[in-house]
Amino acid sequence: MTVKCCLCDKEVEDKFSNNALPVQDGRCCMECNLRLVVPARAVISKKTRFLEDVQKRERCPIGGDAPDCAGVYVVWERGIEDPLYVGETANIKARMVDIKNTWNHSLRKKLALKEFGIKLVSGKFPDDVEKRLDDFMRDSISVSYFPVSFGRKEFEEATIAHYPNMLNSPSLRGKK
Ligand SMILES: [Zn+2]
Repeated sequence: MTVKCCLCDKEVEDKFSNNALPVQDGRCCMECNLRLVVPARAVISKKTRFLEDVQKRERCPIGGDAPDCAGVYVVWERGIEDPLYVGETANIKARMVDIKNTWNHSLRKKLALKEFGIKLVSGKFPDDVEKRLDDFMRDSISVSYFPVSFGRKEFEEATIAHYPNMLNSPSLRGKK
């Protein structure tokens, strides 16, 4: 008995067909299995492992011991279970310097709006607000680091998809 491959339409012996999930809900031929289905599964399991890791990874004060390499960083607020923000960068250590500077990183603008209801008009905040932000970030914000040499954008996107209420989310982006 033969079935039609749900990915390339080729007729294939049923007993040699494969489950095409997660690419498609159906049976597929050996070639499509190797070319499309196996890689898709590998990506999903990598993402799943990464998301498990996100919850477990040690959280550090901003800048403390940031690795000098490419990767993803996840920002946490004390007392809140889900992450606040995720970013990907060519150099985590350098980005952790940026993150403390309103000019160089949008997180501070988002935090000021969320925590103090203060919207940035241009450049940076008045000194007193900058000071409040510094204090808030020092006391309530921690970061976990994920060195990733390849495909870090995918991990960032997977985290955003998994935690839709972060400051990254499109619904909040418009408000910056
Ligand atoms: Zn096929």
